[in-house]
Amino acid sequence: SYRKGGYHAVRIGDPFAGGRYIAQRKLGWGQFSTVWLAYDTQSSNYVALKIQKSAQQFAQAALHEIEVLLSIADGDPSNSKCVVRLIDHFKHTGPNGQHLCMVLEFLGDSLLRLIRFNRYKGLQLNKVREICKCILIGLDYLHRELGIIHTDLKPENILLFSTIDPAKDPVRSGLTPILERPEGGTLNGGSTMNIIEKKLKRRARRAVANISVRRVSMGGGGGGEAGKSARSLDGIDVRCKVVDFGNACWADKQFAEEIQTRQYRAPEVILRAGYSFSVDMWSFACTAFELATGDMMFAPKSGQGFSEDEDHLALMMELLGKMPRKIAIGGAQSKDFFDRHGDLKRIRRLKFWPLDRLLVDKYNFSESDAREFADFLCPLLDFSPEKRPTAQQCLQHPWLNLRSSDQNEMHGQSDLDVGMSNLQM
Ligand code: ADP
Ligand code: MG
Repeated sequence: SYRKGGYHAVRIGDPFAGGRYIAQRKLGWGQFSTVWLAYDTQSSNYVALKIQKSAQQFAQAALHEIEVLLSIADGDPSNSKCVVRLIDHFKHTGPNGQHLCMVLEFLGDSLLRLIRFNRYKGLQLNKVREICKCILIGLDYLHRELGIIHTDLKPENILLFSTIDPAKDPVRSGLTPILERPEGGTLNGGSTMNIIEKKLKRRARRAVANISVRRVSMGGGGGGEAGKSARSLDGIDVRCKVVDFGNACWADKQFAEEIQTRQYRAPEVILRAGYSFSVDMWSFACTAFELATGDMMFAPKSGQGFSEDEDHLALMMELLGKMPRKIAIGGAQSKDFFDRHGDLKRIRRLKFWPLDRLLVDKYNFSESDAREFADFLCPLLDFSPEKRPTAQQCLQHPWLNLRSSDQNEMHGQSDLDVGMSNLQM
């Protein structure tokens, strides 16, 4: 994809925006972009530089994302609403064309990484509560104040965040800025160049790994020797922010019928029955379940004689009970899946396993933990979108302010210590 219309190739030390931003290391990539850690020489801060592919349709998408991010930043001058902040944007011309670039505040690892490096065993419920509060603050802001639907909420699009600032505390973060490319570097690299390049890459990788672990672990945990503090989330104020507004839309200005990543997709989207803010609440519930158990709530697969959509609908009903007939037959796509009685045409036998039982039987939750967590999640998974609580209402739910007394409660023998020590960018 590094060709005309595609990604822009970046090397460590490359300058952007007339030298204001210096590329440090690649942080990640998506379908449309690569994201780099960059040093902002004007503010002496680290930032995330999202460089879009150059072809017309990608530029169009980036302009839309910038528009959404601008309104998000506008409405939140104190940057306290748990949504990523856009700092700057500009165009960058390279060999593959003109690339729109977004400068975002630099955040840490995604919740997907956290789950993955925790070996898919689920986080402590107290941590899940903290993370849920942040996400809900973000959603409440987007929905109620801005009228924006995220449409792609999932663990991958929620990034950890802490108050430790690597630019102000380079020793603790282990990160020092690279300000320019080494002397004598040629574009395609002679052998000297390659060695320097490799060294720089290794250094940057180490430094960012440090930051990402410490940014999480030192947020509220205080100092301690690096090895120790980097290994656990115990006693830490876990905070996070919602990112990736590439697919977001205004509720009154929708363009896509099919939205959301498969596993986090609401039933009304599958049925093509129209959607609103409550699709994010559905994805939120799926995300909270995944944080607590390490498993996706719904992982549909097509099979002999039925599609992925049909399996998905069946899985939903097995967990949440039968879909009311009116809703089942109410979408433009309903006839493909349901008969006129509101029963699935091609999956006839459902094995009901209600959420609170599943939490006890499969994930070793105590009866009370399971009851309380299910009581929090189930209303968010109502088949009637308009019956789901709003983010504002959800923030009032007592589950968010419970505290599990046993600090060691971990479902499915979670071992976060191992997870955190392996956490790397
Ligand atoms: P795309 O729209 O192309 O999917 P994303 O906005 O999801 O791009 O970013 C791609 C990846 O870059 C993310 O999954 C994450 O790893 C990393 N990333 C994005 N924004 C930031 C940020 N503000 N701070 C740190 N890393 C980020
Ligand atoms: Mg993405």
